[in-house]
Amino acid sequence: RMAASEEVFVGSIDQGTTSSRFLIFDKTGEPVALHQEEFSQIYPHPGWHEHDPHEIVQSVQNCIEGALKIFEKDGHSKDSIKAIGITNQRETTVCWDVKTGEPLYNAIVWTDTRTAALARELKARPGSDKLQDVCGLPISTYPSVTKLLWLLRNEEKVRSAYEAGNLAFGTIDAWLIYKLNGGPEKNVFVSDPTNASRTMFMDIHTLKYSDQMIDFFSYEFDLRKVHMPEIVRSADPKSFGQISSGSLQNFPLTGCLGDQSAALVGQKSFQPGEAKNTYGTGCFLLYNVGDKPVISTHGLLATVAYDFDGKPVYALEGSIAVAGSGVKFLMHNMGFSYASHKITELAETVPDNGGLVFVTAFSGLFAPYWIDDAHGTMFGITQHTERGHIARATLEAVCFQTKAILDAMEKDSGHKLSELKVDGGMSNSALCMQTQADLVSIPIVRPQMRETTALGAAIAAGFAVDVWKSFDELREVNTAGQTTFAPKMDPKASEKMFKRWERAVTMCKGWLA
Ligand code: ADP
Repeated sequence: RMAASEEVFVGSIDQGTTSSRFLIFDKTGEPVALHQEEFSQIYPHPGWHEHDPHEIVQSVQNCIEGALKIFEKDGHSKDSIKAIGITNQRETTVCWDVKTGEPLYNAIVWTDTRTAALARELKARPGSDKLQDVCGLPISTYPSVTKLLWLLRNEEKVRSAYEAGNLAFGTIDAWLIYKLNGGPEKNVFVSDPTNASRTMFMDIHTLKYSDQMIDFFSYEFDLRKVHMPEIVRSADPKSFGQISSGSLQNFPLTGCLGDQSAALVGQKSFQPGEAKNTYGTGCFLLYNVGDKPVISTHGLLATVAYDFDGKPVYALEGSIAVAGSGVKFLMHNMGFSYASHKITELAETVPDNGGLVFVTAFSGLFAPYWIDDAHGTMFGITQHTERGHIARATLEAVCFQTKAILDAMEKDSGHKLSELKVDGGMSNSALCMQTQADLVSIPIVRPQMRETTALGAAIAAGFAVDVWKSFDELREVNTAGQTTFAPKMDPKASEKMFKRWERAVTMCKGWLA
């Protein structure tokens, strides 16, 4: 073991949709300390989903203190932590007052569909079909812009701050960095391109705010009056400031990546043609396309993978709104079990889905379909349907959507993927991963250490302060003990399963009509 003075560690804040975490990684990418805390999910009306912005910051601070306690108890010194990275749930929108630093409303979470009618209104406006070429995203309830417009239109406090010229808009990274730095006093107000590219305000080619985008969305409110974070590189020794209080006071924040980009980095998918799929609350497949964005014509998003040195790398993305949240739905709403892994065990009590397909479109259906008004639909119920079938169909829903996304990716990129790296809570389910391999007919590779999102943010932060200097140094990181799920099912059988899914998708549409 190295002498304590020679040890080098990097901290990582992982602010996810259902929980916050703080991890401390050593130079080999091994997590030596972790603390995790869940926080409140607020559902004021059907389709609405909010977080308390203060609680988010508090949970992060608690996680830092918790992990640090473990770290120091194990004999490490906090002075060996060289930098801290941040990764976060994307699109989730916070509005606050620049004078007070106080939030003006709860954070509207990325899954929230209150903006469905607004999204339809925006889509009907002239020029709406030109936006994706600039920002990489189609109009939907998903990006931050629709959430901001909704708040301006419907929330008195947000509108008066806007009228007074005091309205700050930010995604969770910007909010956290601002608050961890101490708020209005220091006024560190920045975002990285992987987060800013999820607002619809950024030109994905230049990584700057786009006049065309701002103009398009400014028909009711002048969005130039809204304070937006400065877009800086994902790895940056200065721009993110430093933590202003607690045990890590004055420790530098030097890396920032949206959660899905962080997972791509944590899986070390640095080469064009490499891809990862993260099965968390939602599920997100990112495919590295190299130094130029690929604008999808098949229902995928173009996004920034990372920008470490001013030479941004891009990804094609397939976003699935419901993955682990489907498992939680069975637990909390249907009373199926008390633990996520029990849902997998329940699914294992039946040999197959028994003809049952569950389109888990709780918040519309995302990629590659983009049906904002889709509703959850169960298809093929018989007298023989058991809870096991429903559990199985819930796990399979994310596998079917991943298959549809990979098909779309093949069309957009002209390449067929050779293997898919996976992570996220739901990848714990071997049944789910085997089904995935069977449906996409390529090997699914799961690392042993699955905190890849946090690792990605640590890598970004570490690059900024030369803990690591090149991708080469990361080659051995997190390679031991991986599991490969090889396709086993007869391709004809998996094709038949998928056909049934596609039929079910056609039935989940049009519920608002
Ligand atoms: P996030 O970062 O989005 O909050 P995680 O990556 O922590 O999400 O994944 C949590 C999700 O994974 C939860 O919804 C949980 O129900 C699901 N999950 C965890 N373990 C299993 C399992 N063995 N089988 C099925 N789902 C699981």
